[in-house]
Amino acid sequence: MKFVSIIVPCFNEEESIELFYNTVKPILEEIHMISYEFVFVNDGSKDRTELVMKELSLKEDCVRFVNFSRNFGKEAAMLAGIEAAKGDAVVLMDVDLQDPPELLPEMIHEWHDEGYDVVYTRRSTRSGEPPIRSWFAKQFYKLINNMSDVHIVDGARDYRLMDRKAVDSFLQLKERNRFAKGLFMWVGYRSKCLEFENVERAAGSTSWSFWKLVHYAIDGIVSFTIVPLRWATYFGFFSASASFLFMFYVIFKKIFLGDSVSGYASMVSIMLFFGGIQLIFLGIIGEYIGRIFIEVKARPHYITKEQSEDMEVVKGKRSTTLVVRRNS
Ligand code: UDP
Ligand code: MG
Repeated sequence: MKFVSIIVPCFNEEESIELFYNTVKPILEEIHMISYEFVFVNDGSKDRTELVMKELSLKEDCVRFVNFSRNFGKEAAMLAGIEAAKGDAVVLMDVDLQDPPELLPEMIHEWHDEGYDVVYTRRSTRSGEPPIRSWFAKQFYKLINNMSDVHIVDGARDYRLMDRKAVDSFLQLKERNRFAKGLFMWVGYRSKCLEFENVERAAGSTSWSFWKLVHYAIDGIVSFTIVPLRWATYFGFFSASASFLFMFYVIFKKIFLGDSVSGYASMVSIMLFFGGIQLIFLGIIGEYIGRIFIEVKARPHYITKEQSEDMEVVKGKRSTTLVVRRNS
């Protein structure tokens, strides 16, 4: 019998955890060819998430948890879950039930019986999302797919199943700036895409602000392509050629038409234009240098405060006394 690990990153999700567990568990019970475990990762929540998670893991044998020392972001939480997972396959799921658990039987079937190594999902619609956010998301996918050689499917979710082979390959990628959607695609393997309609959150609210999404998009582009750096070179060639042509025009005008130098306004606008362009490219170069800085420091991706393995077992039952384990 194959063993599947369900990884669930949670950030301020006290209302969703039990609901999630009670919805997903019966569906997994129905799939006879597998046994399963849940790995909940508490990404430094400020609410009662930690307590709810611990209580659940005490009650249920198939539940484990990893507890971060602070909020490290969803990418880190997913990584921690994947590292802790013991399964022959790993499934990543959001706790808010926006990743429809009804897809699980089909996902597991495609992996178990059809031999796919990766079964990922995409939302075919973005209903219920502000139109401006959908528009930006669409542009982002267009941009990143034009610039990098890894194809990231528009609307692809983190909700996916990966075989142990793919998981191990994914874990070999040690970079700090993790854009998991791209990394999953980069790893490759025989993949199958399942589509579903967008589902509204079951409880709580999204923790993604507009600016958080903008930073996520920049992270994605910068960690997958160096094309923006090349734009500076192209633009440099273009403006140098344009300035030569303009110089010839000015000389021609002076010699043959006797025009004196004029055009204060055009001068100022050209200066401002190039000043702006230079700042933009300095910014782009800065984005890459900043990431080199972060990679060089090589800090751990996250710090685990405690995890369910640390709980002492008392008379067959786990006690709530926790041994704090420090990551160094
Ligand atoms: N999440 C997390 N750390 C964060 C932000 C989010 O672990 O810093 C988790 C969150 O609890 C949820 C999943 O990532 O399980 C997706 O988050 P959310 O629903 O807020 O994002 P959306 O579905 O709106 O993209
Ligand atoms: Mg969500």
